[in-house]
Amino acid sequence: MAFTTVSEIDKIYSAQLKNKAEIKHSTAEKRISWLKKLLSSIIAEEKAIEKALYLDFHKSGIETAITEILAVQVELKHIIKNLRGWMKDKSVRRSLMMPNVNAYLHYEPKGNALIITPWNYPFQLPIVHLASCIAAGNTAIVKLSEFSPNTNKLVKNIISNLFSEDHIAVVEGAVEETTHLLDLRFDHIHFTGSPKVGKIVMEAASKNLTDITLELGGKSPAIIDKNVNLKKVVKNLIWAKFVNAGQTCIAPDYILAHRHQKHQIEELFRKELVEAFGNDAFNSPDYARIINEKQFQRLQDNLNDAKNLGAVIISGGNSDSKTNYIEPTVITNVASTNPLMTDEIFGPILPIVYYSQIQEAIDFVNQKEKPLALYVFSKDDNFNKHIIRYTSAGSTCINDAMIQIMHPNLPFSGVNNSGIGQSTGRYGFISFSHERAVANVKITPISSMFWFPYTEKTNKMLQWIRKIV
Ligand code: NAD
Repeated sequence: MAFTTVSEIDKIYSAQLKNKAEIKHSTAEKRISWLKKLLSSIIAEEKAIEKALYLDFHKSGIETAITEILAVQVELKHIIKNLRGWMKDKSVRRSLMMPNVNAYLHYEPKGNALIITPWNYPFQLPIVHLASCIAAGNTAIVKLSEFSPNTNKLVKNIISNLFSEDHIAVVEGAVEETTHLLDLRFDHIHFTGSPKVGKIVMEAASKNLTDITLELGGKSPAIIDKNVNLKKVVKNLIWAKFVNAGQTCIAPDYILAHRHQKHQIEELFRKELVEAFGNDAFNSPDYARIINEKQFQRLQDNLNDAKNLGAVIISGGNSDSKTNYIEPTVITNVASTNPLMTDEIFGPILPIVYYSQIQEAIDFVNQKEKPLALYVFSKDDNFNKHIIRYTSAGSTCINDAMIQIMHPNLPFSGVNNSGIGQSTGRYGFISFSHERAVANVKITPISSMFWFPYTEKTNKMLQWIRKIV
């Protein structure tokens, strides 16, 4: 695998610095034409994208079409449709204290951006965040993960065929190359990856006070109320957890179910997993593999450790190290010290924890870092509101899982340990822009009320203003 050399990175960086003023002044029409070209070439390369994802981790064509291509298509179309409006100055309400001031927000491109992405959605993530960056009028260096070489090759070809390097450039590399990039000064860094590396990025950004967006991970729980259609919920959780073989940042990490549901939920998982993937998921054309040996070994070690400490496998548990295959696995009675309970799982292993009182479930969630997503399943709206009120999460979906990120008018974001800032749609455009506050004073300057020398008249004016504010 050929990584981009440090001197190539420096060359691209300098070229983008020279070009950023021109890109900053690009019109809405120009940016829309770039985005349209990007969309057309993605559609033209659809089959090649599916093939690349299959080569990288055995992801099925239809799953790639849904989670990589459709996701990108929806995002690009949404931006193309709305960009003219987003770029316009946005008036804010007039203030009683300043009747002669026309106040508005002006959307200024930040300048040169760095986008760093992980391997788990190696096509969707770089393109979605790049789309926001292009829409906002920035140059970009896109650093792809070192673990998805086939998809990287394709992303690089698509981008280099459409854009000159002094506008958008794709860089391949691992820690050394990313560290070098982080030593350079950018106007914005958009990072998607683990909280551990997120901290490294934030520290590097602080040296130049560079603005950042961090899209990170965490343990996203699914809380199930007593009063639900359990079959529907189980099917829903099977899809959300085992799509991409569990390697999804917002996949349900673990389930909190009521103790009375134990027998029924375990039976349902056993039955519905066979419905989904057949008697042997190894042979299912729809089921992906773990990205590499290192991730496979981490998951296998955690599972073995859990079993040694008394965990009970409800379904699954088999694996094949030659193909990095881990069977969809549902497990319970996992020791609280096992990494399956302390760290983000990021693989096809789903622990169930049983609660007796809902407060126990809430305490369980709140003892951990704030998750990227939290799912609630209940027919009772008061139950759902109660959970939302007494927990914190980047996003929540009620009575479904993962679809919150497909809503074009909702931001994608974490909170604290699961992320900082917001992405996608209008929120993505704003993240890559500076919302500049402009106060346009008509006729008399407001400050004339306080001009020197201060007199009794100034004091009276002050008292009057204090009364009306
Ligand atoms: P990672 O943090 O290991 O790597 C992400 C990127 O950082 C890669 O490009 C990698 O090359 C680079 N990197 C790794 N170590 C580095 C270091 N020491 N210094 C500088 N750069 C470094 O994450 P990953 O394993 O690729 O992806 C899995 C993580 O990403 C999970 O935590 C998952 O939840 C998260 N994720 C989050 C989102 C989201 O939108 N919130 C989406 C996908 C994945």
